[in-house]
Amino acid sequence: MTTKFNQPLGGNDMPRFGGPATMMRLPTATDARGLDACFVGIPFDIGTSNRPGTRYGPRSIRAESCLIRPYNMATRAAPFDSMQVADIGDVAINTFNLTDSVRIIEEAYDEILKADCIPLTLGGDHTIALPILRAIRKKHGPVGMIHVDAHADINDHMFGEPIAHGTPFRRAVEEDLLDGNRVYQIGLRATGYAADDFDWPRDQGFTVVQAEDCWYQSLAPLMQEARAKVGDGPVYLSFDIDGLDPAFAPGTGTPEPGGLTTSQGLEIIRGCRGLDIVGGDLVEVSPPYDTNGNTALLAANLLFEMLCVLPKTKYRT
Ligand code: MN
Ligand code: MN
Repeated sequence: MTTKFNQPLGGNDMPRFGGPATMMRLPTATDARGLDACFVGIPFDIGTSNRPGTRYGPRSIRAESCLIRPYNMATRAAPFDSMQVADIGDVAINTFNLTDSVRIIEEAYDEILKADCIPLTLGGDHTIALPILRAIRKKHGPVGMIHVDAHADINDHMFGEPIAHGTPFRRAVEEDLLDGNRVYQIGLRATGYAADDFDWPRDQGFTVVQAEDCWYQSLAPLMQEARAKVGDGPVYLSFDIDGLDPAFAPGTGTPEPGGLTTSQGLEIIRGCRGLDIVGGDLVEVSPPYDTNGNTALLAANLLFEMLCVLPKTKYRT
């Protein structure tokens, strides 16, 4: 194994329950310069509409990530053979001011992207996708998106406010941050206010795959179709943990029954291999409702799977 790249601290060098709780026990870095990809946290829950708590998401995901080993036994991905990766810590949001926090996040991602580093974000509620996409637009133009969620997150407003965790993709369309014909929303379900909740994104060119259309089946064929439609251009991967069923991921703020399984979540991310992924997030983990840590553990593993499908990741044979 090469020593040129940062490696997660192994369980034979320090017990997995010991040492600083960085993401995957990777070294930290003060900024993104010199990195191919970074893990970055946004401890943010001031955009939530129901249960709070995602401000503790990054810390909890990092803690549960201590068991993750560097090699993907299923896909043979070995991201640390070919990429320099570090945990660059958290964005210092202003928890007393949502608008100011959105500005702070955008500026932080401007810096990450300026360093040609791919950000993988530990959320935080889904509000944070808006400032991230604003920063990405400046570097890559409007992007395609693979969006896993129980909700479309295209509300025009929430309680009169234009920016909240249920509105980011409405704003993103208005601001031309997304290439609508290259957007997939997967796992949408449950109750809404009107049919328009899922029809509006369809009118923008999005492909909306409701949870019922995923039940009882492998999502590998869906992802094959998605790869063809999304094509070669830049793609953002936004994974709201509530896209999975609350049986698997109960620690979240707006849980909806009838969701995707863990293996379907893995199939979606693994199905992104070959796409030009320019960033990803894992949002809406709320540790106060995650009584056994399983939601954060799953989130940590899904973030590792995202790392495994970045364009520069090498696969062993
Ligand atoms: Mn969401
Ligand atoms: Mn959601």
